[in-house]
Amino acid sequence: MPPSDLKSLLEAEQSRGLTHSAILQHWLRLQTIHFGNAAVAANHLRDAILVGLDVEWYEHNPEYITELGVSVLDPMFINDWSSLWEVLRMIVNHHVRIKPNAHMVNSELCHGYPEKYQFGKTTFVSTEEAASMLRHLFTRFNSFGQRRPVIFLGHAVDNDTKMIKERFGFDIDSLDVVVATLDTQILAVEAGLATPGRKMRLCDMLAKFNVVEAYLHNAGNDIVCTMIGALLMVYPSSPKDNAALYQGLKVYLQNWSKMSYGVPVFCTKCDSNSHVAAGCYAVVHCALCATLPHRRSNANMHKTEKCLELVKHAARQVAPSLPRLSPAPLNVCPCQYCIESPDRQRNKSGNAYSHTKETCPYK
Ligand SMILES: [Zn+2]
Ligand SMILES: [Zn+2]
Ligand SMILES: [Zn+2]
Repeated sequence: MPPSDLKSLLEAEQSRGLTHSAILQHWLRLQTIHFGNAAVAANHLRDAILVGLDVEWYEHNPEYITELGVSVLDPMFINDWSSLWEVLRMIVNHHVRIKPNAHMVNSELCHGYPEKYQFGKTTFVSTEEAASMLRHLFTRFNSFGQRRPVIFLGHAVDNDTKMIKERFGFDIDSLDVVVATLDTQILAVEAGLATPGRKMRLCDMLAKFNVVEAYLHNAGNDIVCTMIGALLMVYPSSPKDNAALYQGLKVYLQNWSKMSYGVPVFCTKCDSNSHVAAGCYAVVHCALCATLPHRRSNANMHKTEKCLELVKHAARQVAPSLPRLSPAPLNVCPCQYCIESPDRQRNKSGNAYSHTKETCPYK
């Protein structure tokens, strides 16, 4: 059965009330979906690869994707389905930073931790390498040479696939392998943990299960935690000692991780693959900062093409096209929902700092 047929069947079932949780529970062998006279579909769905994707972007302009996190669970390698933590030991993760944007580290609006990947080693890839990595991870073949189905998982995934398409020119939908797209936001509503229409932050979802990760807002950590959160929400009973099991998984995966894509060393100052920026002696100059009195001391710290002032300056030039939400003075802390939203109208500082999460007009 081609993945596109399975997708149509699942869509039909979803229109009749099949939930995201039920699809994941079927895949996890916790319950069985009966597809009427298409019984073979049940087995095909269990053969699907579960692929999670998380995208991080520069806080002043989401057009600049800085990191990707991809996690893959292939049922071919899972023998013990009895506990979610056993299943998770088979997860294969990739955390890559995008070379041309790797110098853009979020520190002002929404603190990022690109150097704090907790489940293995980070690598650096070009935009083209990022696209081919995704193509490779989403395309697996069975012993008959047919493409295997993919269950795609993410935290607010629609935005991520759109961004991948726009920035990397890679259209996941065009592969015709994704049979279902599951969103932890929806799983959380189905599990009774979140209110419909209201966005739940990843850290809040994990906290419900006593899992704490200090370095979220690293694409690699975010996607592993999204996969963990999804499984915690659909397993009928989750162990009490999740915090310790989470730490144990981290150590286990660090030891087993492989670097499959890109290079492990990259200088964000001069693009060298032999050292990092902290040990860089390259002479660089920024033509913009040299002309700005308050930036002059930074003019010898980066190249003009890596000048973040330029990116911020361009972001400020984009005039707001929505009516102003509020003329109120800007808050010290932004609205958490808006600042984490990929929607440019919401995450730009003029909006995100105009209100608090308690008074968010979008929730
Ligand atoms: Zn260098
Ligand atoms: Zn500069
Ligand atoms: Zn808001």
